[in-house]
Amino acid sequence: MRYHGREVDVEGRMRLVMESTLTARDRVGVQDFVLLEKYNSEAAFIENLRRRFGENLVYTYIGSVLVSVNPYKELEMYSKQQMERYRGVSFYEISPHIYALADNTYRAMRTERKDQCIMISGESGAGKTEASKKILLYFAVTCPINEHMATLGDCLLQSNPVLEAFGNAKTFRNDNSSRFGKYMDVQFDFRGAPVGGHILNYLLEKSRVVHQNQGERNFHIFYQLLEGGDDDLLTTLALERNPQSYNYLVKGNCPRLSSVSDKKNWKVVMKALSVVGFTEEEVQKLLDIIASVLHLGNIQFGEGEEGETYITTETQMTNLAKLLGVDVSALGEALTHKKLTAKGEEMISALNFEQAMSTRDALAKAVYRRTFNWLVEKINQSLALKEEIYHSGKGCTVIGLLDIYGFEVLQHNSFEQFCINYCNEKLQQLFIELTLRSEQEEYETEGIAWETVQYFDNKIICDLIEEKHKGIISILDEECLRPGETCDVSLLEKLEDTLGGHPHFVTHKLANGKTRRIMSREEFRLLHYAGEVNYNVDGFLDKNNDLLNRNLKEVMCQSDNQILSHCFRRKEVADHRRPEMAATHFKNSLMKLMEILKSKEPSYVRCIKPNDAKQPGRFDEVLVRHQVKYLGLMENLRVRRAGFAYRRRFEAFLQRYKPLCPETWPNWHGGLADGVSTLVNHLGYNAEEYKLGRSKIFIRFPKTLFRTEDALEAKR
Ligand code: ADP
Ligand code: MG
Repeated sequence: MRYHGREVDVEGRMRLVMESTLTARDRVGVQDFVLLEKYNSEAAFIENLRRRFGENLVYTYIGSVLVSVNPYKELEMYSKQQMERYRGVSFYEISPHIYALADNTYRAMRTERKDQCIMISGESGAGKTEASKKILLYFAVTCPINEHMATLGDCLLQSNPVLEAFGNAKTFRNDNSSRFGKYMDVQFDFRGAPVGGHILNYLLEKSRVVHQNQGERNFHIFYQLLEGGDDDLLTTLALERNPQSYNYLVKGNCPRLSSVSDKKNWKVVMKALSVVGFTEEEVQKLLDIIASVLHLGNIQFGEGEEGETYITTETQMTNLAKLLGVDVSALGEALTHKKLTAKGEEMISALNFEQAMSTRDALAKAVYRRTFNWLVEKINQSLALKEEIYHSGKGCTVIGLLDIYGFEVLQHNSFEQFCINYCNEKLQQLFIELTLRSEQEEYETEGIAWETVQYFDNKIICDLIEEKHKGIISILDEECLRPGETCDVSLLEKLEDTLGGHPHFVTHKLANGKTRRIMSREEFRLLHYAGEVNYNVDGFLDKNNDLLNRNLKEVMCQSDNQILSHCFRRKEVADHRRPEMAATHFKNSLMKLMEILKSKEPSYVRCIKPNDAKQPGRFDEVLVRHQVKYLGLMENLRVRRAGFAYRRRFEAFLQRYKPLCPETWPNWHGGLADGVSTLVNHLGYNAEEYKLGRSKIFIRFPKTLFRTEDALEAKR
């Protein structure tokens, strides 16, 4: 494991730390939880966080994991000078910082020529996205530049405002909440210059396009366009300036944000689009689509005498069809009728009022989601590694940045929360696999006796959700495919039949009144590693099905808007196979993500939100304690402390320290283990200071190593 190699630095630098580099203020509490005297005490852990937070020391380590507390105010620690301070300086020499982690990862990639990834986790509003932006900025500012890709740094940075405009929104928890998960690779050439990038996006919360909870907003871009677009533009798009005129913008009753200016951001986004390489025409088409979604929300229906539905908003329809680049009557027909194929024959059936409304909303969501995917694809084209660099034969290395939604428990939890929390279970699995388990396994393979640290392995919950045939996702898919009347309640019954008795699955019926908190009859409860969550099955089937009527797709793929005709392909309409369902699609993309992450050396940033009021200076202990728990920080710390500070392979250890024993070397002919044994005896190590494994020496305390390093230094 990489960080063991750094361990000497790590603790070695503690000494430096004490001597000079840090000011008294920097030394408030301990800057690495490993140094906590009562490392087993959660209270001591939280007290350390709190004290440091009070001094604006928002970063603290657990070994190589960076814990970050959102200050909710601008701190003076992110300047260019600060970046310079952290450049090339080892982890523990100066106070903990996101730049230190970025720099360390970068150097590990360079020296070991191994791909890295930085996983950023935490709940909504904890500072994940800000952290990822700071890391990216650090690379853009401090890395060398490849002359063929001089503008790549700008492109990387400017992709953020674009994605945020279309993928972020104000929520209850965060004024700029990312409503999609993001994994970004930054590729570096052999000299360490960024030369390419690639973004994967996950599960955009498209339901927000048509509905927002009280106090929340739709995606930023809608408001930015209405606030920032000039009069001519709005006229072309047939838009009014007032967001309250649009049904899709009024649900949350929150047209403006106090903390951001939509007008200012509009300019930022338009500029960013051009830096990232969108042509003027593409931007125009993109805005046509954004405007069309607003018009779509204002389409109203009337009900005829025989229950048939017709469109009552003619002008809006004309504007809408024009902006979508489709035939107005075909669109009107597709919004009010459904085409079915039964026994090889096509039939048209009229939609009732409710169905027409939900068809309209489904179109809005599909258009927005697909446009968002197009946007990401387009950004990826601009960031793509140039052929000549790719084929230069020298090979690139990669740093991946994962900024993905944290564990989410709302008042009402639905399909979206189910997916998000499933994702967090998978990430926890990976964390266990990569840190806790591998640490313990190393001791085992080396035959080193030590106290096993108990940790909860959440594989059982992952299986419950994703297992073939009997996991929740499988059952959900099956229920969606089952012919005849299916409904969300029948899904629940099916889940109960199959999963009743599973220790992590509870429903009202299964609980037999034994649950502490009362559950409704439409809910199932999962006992996640991070806590219990009740999910309401209402809407699960529809959301998993995620269907758009075929005749609507047919209309859309004839659009003369290039973006839309790219998003709605004729071959999709021609293909009669059932597309992958939403949860399965998500599961499969998560599997791929896990493979990507597993192939890299991981680093972690664990973000904590200090209060729910988005305010500086407030540290809500209850809230923090909960996050410390589900981020698994105490377990993480125990594993770090239980182990040995430093370990090295016999060869490497001998190679470095044999000059300290010239009586024996260079004439030593024995085996490696004997050699190490002889050497440590000569150095006067006592029994509890070290252990010999099968191929490595493990040293318990940092001070032992300092002593040896000092001796080496004195000899030189
Ligand atoms: P998340 O991505 O975890 O949901 P964000 O990164 O969007 O959270 O952070 C939410 C808000 O908190 C930001 O918009 C910003 O106002 C504030 N914030 C987060 N990190 C920092 C930081 N390091 N310094 C100052 N403010 C921050
Ligand atoms: Mg975010």
